[in-house]
Amino acid sequence: MSAASTTFPLQERDIPTHWVNLVPDLPEPPLPPLHPGTLEPAGPDDLAAIFPPAIIAQEVSGEPDVELPEQVREAYKLWRPTPLFRARRLERALDTPAHIYVKYEGVSPAGSHKPNSAVAQAYENAQAGVRKLTTETGAGQWGSSLAFACSLFGLECEVWMVGSSYDQKPYRRSMMQTWGASVHRSPSQLTDAGRAQAAHASGSLGIAISEAVEVAARDPAANYSLGSVLNHVCLHQTVIGQEAIAQLELAGEAPDVVVGCVGGGSNFAGLAFPFIRRVLRDGARTRFLAAEPAACPTLTRGAYRYDFGDTVGLTPLMPMYTLGHDFVPPPVHSGGLRYHGDSPLVSALVRAGIVEARAFRQNDAFAAALQFARTEGIVPGPEPAHAIRATVEEALAAREAGEPRVILLGLSGHGHFDLSAYDAYLAGELEDPEFSEADMDAALARLPQAPAIG
Ligand SMILES: *Cc1c(COP(=O)(O)O)cnc(C)c1O
Repeated sequence: MSAASTTFPLQERDIPTHWVNLVPDLPEPPLPPLHPGTLEPAGPDDLAAIFPPAIIAQEVSGEPDVELPEQVREAYKLWRPTPLFRARRLERALDTPAHIYVKYEGVSPAGSHKPNSAVAQAYENAQAGVRKLTTETGAGQWGSSLAFACSLFGLECEVWMVGSSYDQKPYRRSMMQTWGASVHRSPSQLTDAGRAQAAHASGSLGIAISEAVEVAARDPAANYSLGSVLNHVCLHQTVIGQEAIAQLELAGEAPDVVVGCVGGGSNFAGLAFPFIRRVLRDGARTRFLAAEPAACPTLTRGAYRYDFGDTVGLTPLMPMYTLGHDFVPPPVHSGGLRYHGDSPLVSALVRAGIVEARAFRQNDAFAAALQFARTEGIVPGPEPAHAIRATVEEALAAREAGEPRVILLGLSGHGHFDLSAYDAYLAGELEDPEFSEADMDAALARLPQAPAIG
């Protein structure tokens, strides 16, 4: 490929055959999740009420490389390999010597990275004879991804959608229904968890998770499916980073810094883990930068503690950075980043100093998103807008240093269903909430009784 190339295309045969499991390469073995009742380490059996055996095996796997089932790889061919391109126009607009490469996951049917895991989860549940999957969705990205995946493998799909997003993004609901899913506004009247949280009318991911888990746990033919946070979801997403490694090889480059946005951590993990493995195994010198919203600053301001994954406390306790399981983030437009906790694996990497985290204000993220749209054409989702902001800062730092640094940006999805947020930004009416010390103190006071860590 010539030095002037902008795109670095791969073929179907280049879709990875294995997922990258970073666990065996970590400097320390990960801490176990704890059973919510006994506070003892939760074993695979504790997950069997809501997950199929193959997914549980992936969740606790110690194998460095986990083989993709052939039917999942076949389904990936509907949109993979995804593009990697060099953002030359953005580089010029920033007058930076940095080389900015963008790995774009918005070409999937649902418009984000999330089908990478949805397809794998729907396949394994169908194999296990499950008839229905329940789940929560924030911005609607995960719900639409799972609805799409369930349609491929003949499963029913029932989705609890966070109230504020349900109101802001009616077309995401239409999309889920088009793929055959049923969609409820959360908190709903259909579950004990929803009825108990009726006062939080705008909802939160934590509440919606409680509702979906409750329904799956009481229906033997139904399982639950989570779109982020857990190890197996991070695992499924590693097709992103593996393809990016091959594409950057075509470009003859290696990244100095890898940048992604973090909600529950899965797209960041998917892009970064294959590169982090090179750092841990081969001493590659790469920085990793996780971008999050200032309104929900889990990695930069949260406590590293055991906490529940959901609001009500039905899930195992996980070791992670958390703002408290009942923290209800302000209704910012990056719905996919409104989660109180984070992937235990990503949290451990932040704790170990391998991944650096930075928080960005909503308006700053949208300013960067507009600059990106006006130079590179793609209208980004509000979530990756935070990573674009971080990329712009890195590119300006490279200019300052006079160094042609190589930046790899994970563009996790497009913003075609988020145009009401763009409207608000363009009208100068986008709110810019921040997290306060009082919020943090209140959240810490409500953390569950569990062994302290580190
Ligand atoms: C859901 C979502 C995110 C955040 O989730 P992660 O699990 O942290 O990746 C980021 N970007 C987009 C486009 C999303 O849909």
